[in-house]
Parts: sequence; structure tokens; C-alpha cells
Amino acid sequence: MSNPDEFNLSKLFPEEDLRKTFEKVFDKNVIRVIHNLASLGHFDHLEFTISTGKEAHVFRASDNHGHYRAVKIYKIETSDFKRMEDYLHFDPRFQKVKNDKRQIVFAWTQKEFSSLRKLKEAGVPAPMPLAAKENVLVMEFIGEKGEASPRLKDARIGDLEKFYENVVKAIAAMLNAKLIHGDLSEYNILVKDDMPIIIDVGQTVPTIHPNAKTFYERDIKNMLKVFHRLGMKELTYDQFYADIKRVKERKE
Ligand code: ADP
Ligand code: MN
Repeated sequence: MSNPDEFNLSKLFPEEDLRKTFEKVFDKNVIRVIHNLASLGHFDHLEFTISTGKEAHVFRASDNHGHYRAVKIYKIETSDFKRMEDYLHFDPRFQKVKNDKRQIVFAWTQKEFSSLRKLKEAGVPAPMPLAAKENVLVMEFIGEKGEASPRLKDARIGDLEKFYENVVKAIAAMLNAKLIHGDLSEYNILVKDDMPIIIDVGQTVPTIHPNAKTFYERDIKNMLKVFHRLGMKELTYDQFYADIKRVKERKE
């Protein structure tokens, strides 16, 4: 380390407790990447964790102008890289990825970045991807006045019919982008202004994937249960399926 200030976390983490937690979970490579992204202007501070998961932590970051970002950092040690590898090997862009934990997690991060980009291009409501480097993904912060939007699991929906229509539209737009989410659930949809925002898209698969149909049907079944819980007792699987198809074909 030529410059001892290079890994000085105090600028990025004004809070000492947060610095300690960060140091425990992430190695100096991540710190280097974080500094690099900060020096490119993506953010000035990592403020706090929005979510701590088994495979990734999500932080709120801000810049000196008061703009927020979400920073998702995949953990190398605890990620299920075998599962990641299975998904990656199907994707022509990542077939050459070495059989190495770090490389696999890095490729996974790139995959999530590129899926977010495809979804945005197709008009799917999702966070705008801003940067991906090694195991760190920077994206648009979904929230209001600095408060992260709730997950559908915890959200109160004003107009359920309208919300349903928007979920149908989002799934139809994903299909038009030839992508299946693969882990659609009330944990991976944020609710902002009664709009569903699709997140956690690392495991999306193309519609030509051999298991695409299975994943798609599972996504629909998961969401059907959610809509039943929310009060749409009459909604059937077939109706849900047909609604998506109708909206999809309208846009084709
Ligand atoms: P994982 O489930 O793999 O831990 P997610 O991508 O689902 O990772 O993110 C975990 C949590 O972080 C989400 O449930 C959500 O609460 C929050 N989150 C993720 N991305 C954003 C974002 N762009 N803006 C605001 N909050 C986010
Ligand atoms: Mn998730």
C-alpha cells in the first residue's frame, strides 16, 4: 500500500461503528473498489446498511450534493457460488468465467448490472444501474426523502387493482425483454407511489433457458399467493397468466 490514506474508511464512513462492521465483513479489495467508485463520483459516503443478507449487503450512499445511491456488495465467502455458476454457464457472455469463487461472484455482479440495464431499456420499473465493479453494484436509490421504499411484504397498497395492473405490465415488459425474473416475490418488489419496482435481478434467465417455463410459472404462483394475501381472493392462476399475455401481446 503506497498511500496509507488510500484505505482510510473514515471519509466514506463517518460513523466509527459502521467502519468496524464494514471492515469485519469486507476485505481490502472491496475497500479499494469502493474508493475507486467514490473517486469516479458515484458517491462520497456510505451511510448505513439498508439490508444485510446472506449473499449481499445493500447500503445507502450519498454524495456531497445530497443525492442518494444504493450500493449492493456481494460477499465472496458466503455466496452460493455453485448456484451462481450454474446460471452463469448458461449465459454465453459468462461461459468463460473461471472456476474461481471471486471470479464467479464478480461475473454475477456484472450479470445483475446487465439485467438491470436490459430491464430499464424494456421499460420495466427497476433501479437504474450506475456502475458495477468486482462485487460492487451501484444503482439508483429507490425511496423518498432518503427513506428506502418498503418491500411489498411490508407495504400498504392504496389501489390494489391498479397495483395489480402495474405488476402485470412489469412482468409483460420483462417477457418482451425476453427475461424471466426467477425469484419474483414480495421481498424483491419495492413499492413506491403504489408502483411496483422490480429488484434483485441477478438470477434472471433468458426466455430460451431450458428451465425458463418452470421459473416463470413459479414466479407467477408466488405472486398469485401475494395477491391473495392482499385481498384479491378471486384471482386465479389462469386469469393472471392470461392478463400478462394480453398486455405482452399489446406491446409486441
Ligand atoms: P438480497 O435479497 O440478495 O439480499 P436485494 O437486491 O433483494 O438483495 O436487496 C436487499 C434489500 O435491499 C431489498 O429488499 C431492499 O429492501 C433493499 N434494496 C435493494 N436495492 C435497493 C434500491 N435500489 N433502493 C432501495 N433499496 C434497495
Ligand atoms: Mn432479495
